[in-house]
Amino acid sequence: MNNNGWVGRSLRVDLTKIKVTVEPSTRLLKRFIGGRGVGQWLLFNNLRPEVDPFHPENIMVFSTGPLTGTMAPASRTSLDTKNVYTGGVASSNCGGHLGPEIKYAGFDYITIQGSSKNPTYLLITDGEAEIKDASHLWGESTWRTGEILRRDLGDENLRVASIGVAGENLARPASIIVDKARAFGRGGPGAVMGSKKLKAIAVRGTGGVSVAEPERFMEEVQKAWVKIDRNQSVKARRMNGSRAFLTTGNEHGLLGVRNFQDEYWDNRKIENIRQETLNERYEVRKLACFNCPVYCSHFYKIDSGKYSGLMCEGFQLNIDWDFSAKLEIDDPEALIKINALCNELGLDIDNSSAPIAWAFELYEKGIITSKETDGLKLEWGDASTVIELLQKIARREGFGKILAEGSKRASKIIGRGSEYYVSHIKGQDSIEAIRSDKGWALGCAVAPRGGGHLDGAFQSHRTPEAGEPHSYDSKPERVVWFEKFKATVDMVGICYFTTVWSDQNLLGPEDIANLFSTATGMKLRGDEMMEIGRKVHNIEKAFNTLHAGFTRKDDYPPERFMVEPVKAGPNRGEKLDEKMWGRMLDEYYRIHGWDIESG
Ligand code: SF4
Repeated sequence: MNNNGWVGRSLRVDLTKIKVTVEPSTRLLKRFIGGRGVGQWLLFNNLRPEVDPFHPENIMVFSTGPLTGTMAPASRTSLDTKNVYTGGVASSNCGGHLGPEIKYAGFDYITIQGSSKNPTYLLITDGEAEIKDASHLWGESTWRTGEILRRDLGDENLRVASIGVAGENLARPASIIVDKARAFGRGGPGAVMGSKKLKAIAVRGTGGVSVAEPERFMEEVQKAWVKIDRNQSVKARRMNGSRAFLTTGNEHGLLGVRNFQDEYWDNRKIENIRQETLNERYEVRKLACFNCPVYCSHFYKIDSGKYSGLMCEGFQLNIDWDFSAKLEIDDPEALIKINALCNELGLDIDNSSAPIAWAFELYEKGIITSKETDGLKLEWGDASTVIELLQKIARREGFGKILAEGSKRASKIIGRGSEYYVSHIKGQDSIEAIRSDKGWALGCAVAPRGGGHLDGAFQSHRTPEAGEPHSYDSKPERVVWFEKFKATVDMVGICYFTTVWSDQNLLGPEDIANLFSTATGMKLRGDEMMEIGRKVHNIEKAFNTLHAGFTRKDDYPPERFMVEPVKAGPNRGEKLDEKMWGRMLDEYYRIHGWDIESG
């Protein structure tokens, strides 16, 4: 069997039986490539629709791609499981160094099933795996968990993916944090891991990944590197990460302000938190995921003030969608602290900020009072209160117990009209401002994992074929194209930031196919890889239909985006039109070949 690109083995871990099994992997990988393709196929074929996300039968698939760990700029790992918000699919994608380490340890993917009685962690080293006692780690932060494991196992290079107290307490916004800062975030994977009593996965490998045609592969790698290295948007991203686009994002209506009451933020506040300011004051060095020429991340140190001594990896533009504009926090040190705290507690920044912002708006409107918030005054811009609420969510304490359910479930508990102020898609909190760019809006609303801009969503101003952002024309075909493309990217292990999604001159389907073909020896063109991407997306759609019962009505945006227009800025007056939305959906389903009435 040809194992080039892939390493040819997978690991099955049964936490109920405390048993690990090594299985061949290549047959499945040849059909679904790797990453999200394999994860979604296994999810669809192994789970009964009645299985609750917290039931031991739910599985978690950590899957690398055939390019992960090679000289190609590909670091990503996919995690696929059943979504604790929606009951449909969850798929999150993490950079850093975990994926390459899994490959070097001799595995393409890891399937975790069952649930242990006592806390455990999984140790994977060079072709072997062991389930070990983690009683001493339970209750520790993700940061401490990594430190303890590296110290006890005497290996500074151990890669550790762990949950924090949020995952242990089954808080729905719980994430899995890799090496202190990289995250599997959306869909509540940390809570699923907590339900399995699995505290951490620690990996160390000293093997390698062979490729089928080394010389031709290196030529393709060289081409990809040059394309990325010379790209203007990459130069901006290299300096400032995705926060390079904070000001332009605001102009394009991408910042939801005060829980989406508006979609244009005060530029004076943006000035306070510009990335250039953070670079100047706090940056110690830049950081990259494994073998990535972009190195878009930053390592910060705060030397004075309230958070003096804090040292941590920084954040991307999501922090501005989540905590800056949405909660009006314009103190850069508070943002660094909030991001670090979420990582320590094992909280996804997107899914934890949303119920907090929702509660702030309820408080502003008098729907809730401090009697229900443990005495806290929820006032826009108050970072200390946000920090306290994050702690409460992670521990499911007091008011945090309600917020830990996510906004939609929390609104059923609070009632009193609070449901209107929830911004969710398919039951999961959504983070994107979607009134202005209709392509962005459609892509987010139809995303199978319950919202999110990392499926079919695209920014029209970066995508010439998509036409004018406010127009509903030409959007469905581009959304379908990007859905197939993103699935392809997630199968091979490449970062979306290095592709045409980010800039028209970056890596496209043919570049990816050439890297894939020379790495694995399996010859596929770009359109053939996109066709496999289409199948993966269809599997996700089918899973959602069977497991969550989603239909056309679940592809609509939250009501407030159709009722309240943008109040300020270049997109003033924009909102979503229900009739035009219906037409976009008709066209979107028609292109997919799905039933137009049921979706
Ligand atoms: S572009 Fe940034 S996030 Fe993506 S792989 Fe490179 S360093 Fe990581």
